[in-house]
Amino acid sequence: MKLLRNTSLISVCLLCATLSGCASTTAGGAVGAQRSQLMLISSSELEKMAAQSYAKLKADATSKGELNRDAALSKRVGAIANRIKPHTAVFRKDAPGWNWEVNVIASDELNAFCMPGGKIMFYSGLINQLHLSDDEIAIVMGHEIAHALREHSREQVSHAIAAQTAINIGTSLLGLGQTSAEIGNTAYEALIASKFSRNDESEADDIGLELSARSGYDPRAGVTLWQKMIAAKSGGNPPEFLSSHPEDAKRVERIQSLLPTVLPLYEAAHRSGR
Ligand SMILES: [Zn+2]
Repeated sequence: MKLLRNTSLISVCLLCATLSGCASTTAGGAVGAQRSQLMLISSSELEKMAAQSYAKLKADATSKGELNRDAALSKRVGAIANRIKPHTAVFRKDAPGWNWEVNVIASDELNAFCMPGGKIMFYSGLINQLHLSDDEIAIVMGHEIAHALREHSREQVSHAIAAQTAINIGTSLLGLGQTSAEIGNTAYEALIASKFSRNDESEADDIGLELSARSGYDPRAGVTLWQKMIAAKSGGNPPEFLSSHPEDAKRVERIQSLLPTVLPLYEAAHRSGR
């Protein structure tokens, strides 16, 4: 009987957590990114973890002489970020006020990411080996920033916690509750092993395209960027962040289908001198 009461209590708690944890992190923008998201960890908790991971990454790169080794490249990437940042307000009013950071690591890796809270990292190999134009860098950056705006990592961590909580219901019934330290470990593991779903990737493509267009970067660079990515992939050097991305052909098609929506934003940006 006691067992039964405990079970229903746990079910109610889980339901509450699920209901209170469902939200949309951003406004839809012109591309209409709308979807309810499961969130079981706070933004501030995750941002703290992300800031620590980012600081460690920078410290490791500094010790190897790899952090911002090419001053001109770092300046170029930083300038693109500065142009994009104000336009994040279209999707989230709080984002321009984030504690943004932009750094470049000297590495052959074809990689770039933006951690929760606006911690951007580019790997020089991506820009140098694929000879990316500023427009193409802006498309990559917009995509990575979109993951942070939509808090895809937080959502992923929340799903990991939910799965872990479900497993732990059995132990809870035996009086062995899940400690906050265990939840923290689950969250951290999910954060550092961020592999986004295809749906997340499509959302990031859409939002990223709009962000770069509003910042005055040509959204048609989305097409040339992916052509370069596909060429790198078939050349046996798949870009790291391409691994879980939607099928390449569909991706290019999707970007092309969004051009009529975002090109007017790009043209308006140019008219206003951006
Ligand atoms: Zn992505």
